Amino acid sequence: MDFHIHSEYSDDGSASLEDIVIEALRGGLVAIGVVDHARQDEGWLDEREKELSALRREYSQDIDLFSGVEISATEDQASPELDGDALNTVDYIVASFDQTPASIESKMALEGDAALVDWWSESMQKLLEGATGATVIGKPDRILTAKKVAVDSHRMDGLMEAALGSQMFVEWNPATSYPLQPFANDLGGRGAGRLIYASDARSVEELAEAIKGFTSFEAGIVERGNASFLEILRRRKQ
Ligand SMILES: [Zn+2]
Repeated sequence: MDFHIHSEYSDDGSASLEDIVIEALRGGLVAIGVVDHARQDEGWLDEREKELSALRREYSQDIDLFSGVEISATEDQASPELDGDALNTVDYIVASFDQTPASIESKMALEGDAALVDWWSESMQKLLEGATGATVIGKPDRILTAKKVAVDSHRMDGLMEAALGSQMFVEWNPATSYPLQPFANDLGGRGAGRLIYASDARSVEELAEAIKGFTSFEAGIVERGNASFLEILRRRKQ
């Protein structure tokens, strides 16, 4: 399973929906989520949904095909680019930590890494409380790993509690996470079942590489999360 694949509906994606499905099947995946960046132009979601429906019919025996949009976790509002109707047409929303806000960058210049960790912890907490409408937290530790900032394990306790008790799922990104990050490690280690696999692939080649590079370590860490996320998505589709 891979719950975060970009298609050509993303400005930085190149794969057609059908090519994604074919590659996923070749790699033995049983469920995938096509997740594209939220766009402001109208109609793209309907268009993508039409295409997805046709593929669902064609490949219904072989694979579960879900739809998602990716928004920025750094916004106060979950869906500045999406209206309510659009949100109802997708299976899930991923709120991703894609970049550090400029205000935090300048705070870091004055206060150091602590400013980033404070902001990150608060943002995670807010997302885990479900206030934003998103159901998946994308690239949770990307900002930290990009800046090589480690979070003290004591500081993780509150977040861990919140994550374990939340309705949210948290992405495991092989390309941007690293296994020693305590947050991911704790979630997986405690068998919380809240981590889901997310390659964030932008092309068929990247998807093929992600499938090939999938390790037993990753399988172990996401197995339960993947299974329960799939179950929830299936139930909602009925
Ligand atoms: Zn993405």
